[in-house]
Amino acid sequence: MQDREELPAIHSAHVEGDPPEVVPDPLQPPFVLGRSLLAEVYEHARECYPEECCGILTGPPEGLPSGVTRFANLQNRQHAAGHSDLDARSAFWIDVAELQRTIRALEDGGYRMRAVYHSHTDGGAYLSHTDVRAALGPDGLPLWPDVGHLVVSVQAGTVREAAYFEWDGDRRAFVGRRVREEP
Ligand SMILES: [Zn+2]
Repeated sequence: MQDREELPAIHSAHVEGDPPEVVPDPLQPPFVLGRSLLAEVYEHARECYPEECCGILTGPPEGLPSGVTRFANLQNRQHAAGHSDLDARSAFWIDVAELQRTIRALEDGGYRMRAVYHSHTDGGAYLSHTDVRAALGPDGLPLWPDVGHLVVSVQAGTVREAAYFEWDGDRRAFVGRRVREEP
């Protein structure tokens, strides 16, 4: 865990002219996640539509993520304050103080943040150029190296697909896999 004083913000956007930068690799086996965990994330994504949802997957340090913590998408506040041209329909913003409290509570219980999730409303399950830029520090390395990214595509209010992205240190790039729920 990095220095909490320098906890990076978690936010991003997908907009027109912001192309997919990492798409799931069709040759890789799907990333398997628990049925109830995915159901919780998908429900959140549907409830927030047409706005993006955001939150984190939690769990023990090893093995599959086991829990979901929702966060409010504060992007409309950013927009209203003039900090962003984008509202919550095409971007998300997680409050850093809230995230910090959540991570501290997780770590006290021997758990940790395993992944960040967000939805793309009327967009595909990919990491956008902006998603990737927001996840990397000035050195081109991830701000959260061992944290995955789950992106859920919601089209017209219906969840269409999901993909999971992890940092590949050898390739120095995120790599993505389609998501399948555990049988
Ligand atoms: Zn995104």
